[in-house]
Amino acid sequence: MSAAPRPAVLAVPPGTQPEIVCPPWCTDTLEEHVAELGEWEGLVIHHHANESVWHSRVAYPDGTPDPTEVPLIQVVHPRAMDGMTIEQARELLEALSAAIEEASR
Ligand SMILES: [Zn+2]
Repeated sequence: MSAAPRPAVLAVPPGTQPEIVCPPWCTDTLEEHVAELGEWEGLVIHHHANESVWHSRVAYPDGTPDPTEVPLIQVVHPRAMDGMTIEQARELLEALSAAIEEASR
């Protein structure tokens, strides 16, 4: 039987800074995470964003992944819907491969 997930942090006392553990690939700031704690009921959504591919993972503030959510990968390449050159498609493929590798760790 696996251990129950730790309870989410639902409230942060004024003037204090909660500790939030980011994976090494997260490009969000601590301030962004703190601002979103209420919106996500104490959970944190870590993002890795670049110009063509994003990926994200939902976790508890201590870095423990939320076992009920899978990592998500999102293609945000500006040409993704309109067609792209072979060179642009190669760059997207590389960015997508890197995101898949990182998100599955
Ligand atoms: Zn983060």
